[in-house]
Parts: sequence; C-alpha cells; structure tokens
Amino acid sequence: MAGARPASGDGSLLSERFVYYVLVPAIVIAVLVLGGFAATTVRLDRAIRQTLLDQTATRATEKANGLDDKVAEQDNVVASQADAIIREVDPDLNLLKKRWLSTAQRLTPTIRAILVVDITYDTHEVKAFASKSPSPEDDTFRRLLLYQLFDKMDLDVATQEPGHLHEIIDDTQYLVSYWQREGAPEPGQSKGRKLLIVAWPDVDRIVKETMPQVYKDPEHGDVRMNVVDEKGRIVFGPPIKVGELGISVPFKALSNWRLQLALTSADALSRDARQRWIIQLAMVVIAGIVALFGLVVVIVASARERRLSALKSDFVANVSHELKTPLALIRMFGELLLTGRASSAEKRKQYCEIIVSESERLTALIENVLDFAQVERGKVAYDFVVADVGPIVQRAADVYRYRAEKDGVAIDVEIPSDLPEARIDSRAIELSVMNLLDNALKYAKDGGGVAVSVARQGEEIVIRVADHGPGIPKEEQARIFERFYRGRAASGAQARGSGIGLALVRHIAESHGGEVVVESPVDADGRGTAFSLHLPTLRLQPLAP
Ligand code: ADP
Repeated sequence: MAGARPASGDGSLLSERFVYYVLVPAIVIAVLVLGGFAATTVRLDRAIRQTLLDQTATRATEKANGLDDKVAEQDNVVASQADAIIREVDPDLNLLKKRWLSTAQRLTPTIRAILVVDITYDTHEVKAFASKSPSPEDDTFRRLLLYQLFDKMDLDVATQEPGHLHEIIDDTQYLVSYWQREGAPEPGQSKGRKLLIVAWPDVDRIVKETMPQVYKDPEHGDVRMNVVDEKGRIVFGPPIKVGELGISVPFKALSNWRLQLALTSADALSRDARQRWIIQLAMVVIAGIVALFGLVVVIVASARERRLSALKSDFVANVSHELKTPLALIRMFGELLLTGRASSAEKRKQYCEIIVSESERLTALIENVLDFAQVERGKVAYDFVVADVGPIVQRAADVYRYRAEKDGVAIDVEIPSDLPEARIDSRAIELSVMNLLDNALKYAKDGGGVAVSVARQGEEIVIRVADHGPGIPKEEQARIFERFYRGRAASGAQARGSGIGLALVRHIAESHGGEVVVESPVDADGRGTAFSLHLPTLRLQPLAP
C-alpha cells in the first residue's frame, strides 16, 4: 500500500506543479505580452496621430500666414509711402495723400482709406485723411477710430511692425492696421512729433477678393479648409468637419477669425487608428478573459483532482476497514468449530450459517467495490433474466439476520406470494437490497427494527427498506446518492463505510428502468428513513441491452 500511494500522489503533485509553475506563469506572461503589444501599437498610433497633427498645424499656419502676408504687403506699401514723407521736418501730408491715392487702386486694392493722427499730445488730431472712394462711412470710421478704437491699440508694439485691431461694432467688421512714427524734430527741439499712421482695410474685399486669390481651391487634394468668424460661422470656404485631427488657427490681422483645416487622409487614418485601437483593446480584453477563464478552469480542475484523490485514498482505507468485520467473524466462528468448542449439533449448524452469511456479506462488499469500479469505467454489464423479486429480497434479508440479531434489531420481512415477474439482474438487485439493509443496520441500530417489504404498485414492483433511525436531513437527501458522499449520520455515528453504496443502488435501479427514492422522516416522531427501489414489471421494462 505504502508503495502504491506515493505513485498517484506524485502524479497529481506533478500536475499541480505544472499548473502553478508552468501554466499559470505562461498564461500571465501571454497576457502581459499581449498587453505590451497592444500598448506599443497604441503608442505608435499616438505618434502617428501627433505627426499628422503637426503636419496639419504646419499647413494651417502656412495658409493663415498667406492671408496675413497679403494684408501686410499692402500695409507695407502705405508704410513706405508714409515713411518717405513724414521724415521731413514739416511733412507735406497732402503729398502722402496724393501719392497713396494715385497708386491705391493698383498697390493697395483692399485698403479703403489712410489717416495720419498726431498723437504727440492727448488731443489726437487727424492730420490727414485720404479715402479711395469718399462716403459718409468715412466720418463714422474716423469717429470710431478716435473715440473707441484708439484706446484698444497697443502703441508700444506698433513702432516697427504694424499692429492690427480687429473689432466688430454694430455687426460691422472693422480691421485697422496702425503704426507709430516720429517726425523729424523742429529746430531747437530734441524730439519730433509722434504720428500714428492708420490704414483701413476693407474686410468685405478681403473676403471677396483676397481670400479667393490666396485660397484658390479650399478643397484641393486631401486638404479641406475654411475661414470662420468669431461665432464659428463660415466666412469663406466649404463646411468641413474638423474632427480629431483638424486644426484651427487664428489670423494675426483678422484676429477674431480663424482658419480651419483638416486633412481628409488624416480623417480616414484617424478612423482606421481608432478602429485598430478598438479591435486591439477587444482582443486584449477577450484574451484576458479567456486566459482568466482558463486559469479558473485549471485551478478548479486541479482542486477537484486533489479532492478526488483524497476521496479515493479515504475510500481505499474505508473499504479495507469494512472488509475486516465479516472476516473477523468468519475467523472467529471457524476457530470455534475447529477447536470443537461448539457444544451441540444445533450450535455447530448455527456457526456454519453465520460463516456462510458473513462470507456472503463479504462477497457483497467486494462485489460492491468491483461493480462500482465497473460503473466508474462505464463497463458494467447486467445479466437480465425474467425472475421473481421475492426470493431475492428474502435471501438478502437472511444474510443480515445474524448481524441484526446481534445488534438487537429485528428484521421484519413482508413479501406477498402473487408478485409479478420482472426482467432483472438478480445479483444486482440482491446487492442493492443488501446495501439498503447494511445502511439501515449501520445508521438506525437504535431504532430497534427494520421493515423490508415488496409490493406491487400499478405497473411497478417496489422494494422498500424502512428503519426507525435518526433519519436523513432534507438538505442531504439529494446528495446521498453521489459517489463518495457521506452524510451527517455517517460522521456522527463514526460508522464504517465508503460512500459508494447508494450511488451503486441508484445506478442499478436506473439500469433496470426504475428509480430509487428516499423518504425521511417516515415516523410520526420525526425519525426514520425509507428507501424504495421502484422496478418496472415485465410489461413496461425496456429490452435488455
Ligand atoms: P456509506 O454508508 O458508506 O456512507 P452510502 O452511499 O451507502 O455510503 O450512504 C450515503 C450516506 O447516506 C451515508 O453516509 C449516510 O449519511 C446516509 N444514509 C444512508 N442510509 C441511511 C439510513 N438508513 N439512515 C440514515 N442515514 C443514512
């Protein structure tokens, strides 16, 4: 025995080690690798998106600069014309007006008017005003400039490059380019006059003329662009979906407006990346779930295997222990007969009967184990013949009679003589009844009596073994037919047993096309158990396999 057990122990130990040291880490590593792989592709996708964003941003800035350059170009014309004149001590601003007006149509087509304001003192005085096509709006603009716009100008920054002011007043867009200059000092003065040169570009013309000129094709190639105002309304170009990879940049001059740009290829790419990301995430999640599921299955299976192997070794110990009792009796009565200590012929007969019944019990025990092993391997084959159930039940009861008497339990057998026949395996049915009797004597000794009966119930023959023992709790009743299951009665009474008896009885009953039913309690005082083995009578029985 000692040599046999470690071998199976080593086997399960090996598989357990395999599970914990190889399989589990392998699954964990696989999930980590998968996760790492997914993280890398996500990082890669992010890098691609960033590059695309940078590219889009560069294109958008270039485009915005294109318009700003056009505005600056015309500002510069005015600036150079103004600079040439105001450097004089007493500049001839009329000359500036003349010069600008003569070239305005050609060089500064979008500028409506220019002004020179003396800002040396707080009283800002318009020194010159030239309008390309004079209208009442000129006066409105002049007032606006002096009383509203002037305060918003940042004169410090407007000494080299022109500053710009983009304002919306009464729903009218105003763009102003301005820069500050110092005239030549008059004789005896250290400083010249401070002059503010102002150009008034026509926003409408910028939209209608400059933009189409700069943005010839707002839907060219894979680029789509438009210009939107401070409220997001489209000023120029087609509607576009800026999306995740779209960029919008403000203009320098028309600072309330923005240029929006999106690469159509980037849109598709971002969709692809998003899809890839979702697929990868789903893959990682599914792989994780599968791995986790596998892990749980492996752990549950290994725990089950461990429990089963413990059950099996308990089973071997229990069976060996159970075999000892009838063997000891056989030996004891055999020795009594051998040493001639049996006083009378009657006694000798009784001893011989005991030896026979105990060896039958022993055979039954061994058959129990052998049949159970065959059931487990799915190889059990019953030998069905048409027979009378009565004598079989009687024989089983007789086998237990000595043991019952010894324990002070009366076995009451009731078998009617007019029972119908059934197709049965006599040996298997006898084994079943012996198992039920064995249990009744094991667990219900204190009940005092066991009733065995056979009766016809409709199309069935019912073999009933009832005791007055402690009964079986309701929650155990479904489980007692499981193999190796031993109930409270078994542990409470420390009764010998291996937990295979009822499993075998159920298997035999079902193989005969019948069933085994437990009732408990059966007595008025809440005690007692009755097992009924239902077998179909000949008419209903299935054909033998
Ligand atoms: P074993 O008797 O070897 O434990 P069985 O499969 O024959 O295995 O029985 C399973 C369990 O059912 C027993 O352990 C016991 O708890 C319960 N049992 C069976 N018959 C009786 C009975 N007549 N009275 C009380 N409990 C019973």
